[in-house]
Amino acid sequence: MSRDPRYDILFEPVKIGPVTAKNRFYQVPHCTGLGWLRPRMLAALRGVKAEGGWGVVCTEYCSIHPASDDLPFPYASLWNEADIKAHALMTEKVQEHGALAGVELWFGGGRTANLLTREVPIGVGSVPNFAGEPCQTRAMDKADIRALRQWHRAAALRAKTAGFDIVYVYATHGYLLAHFLSPEFNDRTDEYGGSLANRVRLVRELIEETKEAVGDRCAVAVRFAADERIGKDGVPVHGERRDMLGMLAELPDLWDINIADYSYEMGVSRFVKEAALEPYMAFVKSVTSKPVVTVGRFTSPDTMVGQIKRGIVDFIGAARPSIADPFLPRKIEDGRLEDIRECIGCNVCYSGDGKGVPIRCTQNPTMSEEWRRGWHPEEIATKGSDGKVLIVGAGPAGLECARALGQRGYEVMLAEAKRELGGRVSAESRLPGLSEWARVRDYRVQQIDRMANVEIYRESDLGAEDVLAVGADHVVIATGAAWRRDGFGRFHPTGMADPGPAERIFTPDDVMAGRLPEGRVLLFDDDHYYMGAVIAERLRLAGLPVTLATTEDRAAAWSVYTAEQARSQRRLLDLGVEVAAAQGLSAFDGREAVLSCVYTGRQRRIEAQSVVMVTARRPNDGLYRAVAERLAGGVRGAPRSLRRIGDCDAPAIIAAAVYAGHRYARELDGPEGDPALLPQDRVFDATP
Ligand code: ADP
Ligand code: SF4
Repeated sequence: MSRDPRYDILFEPVKIGPVTAKNRFYQVPHCTGLGWLRPRMLAALRGVKAEGGWGVVCTEYCSIHPASDDLPFPYASLWNEADIKAHALMTEKVQEHGALAGVELWFGGGRTANLLTREVPIGVGSVPNFAGEPCQTRAMDKADIRALRQWHRAAALRAKTAGFDIVYVYATHGYLLAHFLSPEFNDRTDEYGGSLANRVRLVRELIEETKEAVGDRCAVAVRFAADERIGKDGVPVHGERRDMLGMLAELPDLWDINIADYSYEMGVSRFVKEAALEPYMAFVKSVTSKPVVTVGRFTSPDTMVGQIKRGIVDFIGAARPSIADPFLPRKIEDGRLEDIRECIGCNVCYSGDGKGVPIRCTQNPTMSEEWRRGWHPEEIATKGSDGKVLIVGAGPAGLECARALGQRGYEVMLAEAKRELGGRVSAESRLPGLSEWARVRDYRVQQIDRMANVEIYRESDLGAEDVLAVGADHVVIATGAAWRRDGFGRFHPTGMADPGPAERIFTPDDVMAGRLPEGRVLLFDDDHYYMGAVIAERLRLAGLPVTLATTEDRAAAWSVYTAEQARSQRRLLDLGVEVAAAQGLSAFDGREAVLSCVYTGRQRRIEAQSVVMVTARRPNDGLYRAVAERLAGGVRGAPRSLRRIGDCDAPAIIAAAVYAGHRYARELDGPEGDPALLPQDRVFDATP
């Protein structure tokens, strides 16, 4: 198949200064949690994107000097020769597929505490650390500014030696250069502060010096915010930004445009939809003749074409869509739109950044496993035997397992108790804001529907005898988990002896199944991710008065890692949900709930006719255990293997269930997947 001519425009080459991108697909700089810590994993990850057709593939933020160190977050670095070698691994892999490699040179300023290098952090002024560390920066004097310019130039030269085609000046996201530009943060009285021209001076110097140093062979890009400060969603406050951009308009070879509100720029699909930055971008191309790129969680080629044709951007920038589907451009090019694995906007990928661990993706289980496990997002080994596989449960684990086994050529039977496929993702996708989560199911069902060797049996609630009667060679139990109603969790590690009247106690499963509580509701969130907040929103929208009590200090505390927490809490407060922070549920009698302060133990009573427990889940492993028991007792025609995967094995996030299904499929009939035998990307620094 070949592409629809409607999408031809996406495959036009675009000149960026001295280099030319082969098409308009641009993987903007994005974090991976790998950085300098895991260079081979990183090179393989970026290489796969280039193989998938992205015309430009960039690094994550890349420190120019030890004076900008962001540990525990594994940024990239170009400090010395050893770093050049690490990056050359990536540029080689990217260029092998005809893509350009970009590097985002970075200096942290007031956001970095330099906990590894112990250099005194420097900033535009003596500002408190914005990542919450108890330290301040030294206000940069002239010597510091001169040094910074030298470091930047030296890093640009190292980038060129490493083989990069595009070198960034990174002037946004609250790092050092953003503070120099800012009328709020920059209170300098020298020629780098005060007037607009003065505040822009350092960025201008860095662009000019980078061009002078490497511009003969490398393009120079600038990452820059289109608006001055956070306003209402979708309503930009441009302030001086238009003038600033006008002053620098023709200096770089490319503009990579962001916005002030990171939680909107990279918003979860609960709050932000595709192409959301368009209102912010509207003016940009009118002030510069240079190519422009921005992001927008673009997964629809029609939306992409619209962005180009209406003159909003020249490149389709992407981080998340390229993570969920590194082969997105190739699939458009080959006319295989139905094969696109669309990002669901959950931001689990981003959580790796905040936690300083390798990136994971809900939709793409191979992300960051390209080198370590040798997984390719599109290719998989053909089957290792003619064994037939029975999978029980068509949630994300079962569906991905069936899809990947089907791709390997196995004969697969997938049994699902319900008529509807998708398990938890189908149920959760009906909750407020989560509709895009159904993409986890839809992508897989669409793929499976085309496989003659995978048969789906709906409305097939299997017991142990049924499972054995199928006579499969391998049995996989993927029957999920159920939310507990006994309060068991972190606050009550043995459950509540008397959680209250059973008919007044509800779980997220009840709410998702349409069984809503009555009267005043106390939602007890001891889970701390999105579920408590989303269920509270659902109940509030149904008109119920809701108090959300959480044992954490804020609602949906873990979702800080998905850039979602603040928006989540704001949504709850706007809806009139009362948030009772640092409170555990101690008792409930159908009329009142007793909450205990997690610090003092002090108790208070609140009126509540119903309680919704969002505490922990119980694996639905009864079927697994029943089959295992029969096998242990010895049965004729027993399967060669029995495994449980996903939430039925150990309840976790959807990404973990997809990963478990994928891993099972990869490893069937292969060598045992002992993690201790995997190669580990631990690199000795070769610095003399
Ligand atoms: P996971 O996240 O691990 O994939 P889910 O809870 O999303 O788990 O999905 C589990 C699926 O298994 C649900 O769709 C459920 O209806 C199905 N299921 C549970 N028990 C059985 C059973 N005995 N037979 C067939 N399907 C089952
Ligand atoms: Fe998209 Fe979620 Fe994957 Fe990130 S983890 S790329 S948001 S599907």
